[in-house]
Amino acid sequence: MTKHPAPPDADERRAVAPVICYPNDTLPKPDLAQYRAARDTADKIGEVLVPPRDARCFEVPAGHFFRITSVEGPQVGDLNLWNLNDLSERFYSGKTRALHGTHLTTGERMWSSFPRLRPMATIIEDTLEWYGIDQYGGSVHDVIGTRCDPYTGNLLSGTQYHHCCHSNLTRALADHLGISLAEAEPHVHDVLNVFMCTGFTRDTGQYFMKASPVRPGDYLEFFAEFGLLGNLSACPGGDCSAEHSSDEAACYPLLVEVFAPKEGALDGWKSPAPSGYDRSHGR
Ligand SMILES: [Zn+2]
Repeated sequence: MTKHPAPPDADERRAVAPVICYPNDTLPKPDLAQYRAARDTADKIGEVLVPPRDARCFEVPAGHFFRITSVEGPQVGDLNLWNLNDLSERFYSGKTRALHGTHLTTGERMWSSFPRLRPMATIIEDTLEWYGIDQYGGSVHDVIGTRCDPYTGNLLSGTQYHHCCHSNLTRALADHLGISLAEAEPHVHDVLNVFMCTGFTRDTGQYFMKASPVRPGDYLEFFAEFGLLGNLSACPGGDCSAEHSSDEAACYPLLVEVFAPKEGALDGWKSPAPSGYDRSHGR
């Protein structure tokens, strides 16, 4: 194999300053003040307790709120979202990352897949927003991980483990919609890693996780920009301090609560329109 030595101007090339791929100052801004005011007077209309190493679906009507809370012990959650009326519109982790960066917090949004590419859910409160970016480059609520899954475990260690988030989400979706596992599985997609603390190592660029700073009582709260079907898995990794594809880690439930705004509290707000691109693709 040919070895490729560094060219004479290697240092100069490395020294070129980066530019942000997608400057996001032209993104439509959510009216957080209105959302928060509507949330202050909203009424709780339902809750779902997600058992450890399992997942549950929940529905959130347009203009409603949902909160994910850590209860009993530090626990990470893997979140999928779909348009309640059309499963083909679902959370697009990669584009959300390109627009907002590797981790999400208050004021940032979960964006939907092509061809609609519009905000699905806006984060209105994050009790872990104080964490920032730590000395290892780690932060919480990432959109860089995928979801733990039995295929990667099988590839790397030959295991058959059935309670990875991918399988949990598949079972919960099948049960919620009354469809088979085979029909449900292709709808499961890359997640928002709620409460998970992750980053990339600076020396090798590898994806890392570390014990989540989440504690019981911490929560992440969202505004549903249109009707949503949510699916949340309480990851078998627990706080993801060591393992994520076995029954080794201490694992706790996660609580999902849904809140309805008072009549008139969202006057002037409407669901975001699908992308304005004409979809002619040059033909
Ligand atoms: Zn997981």
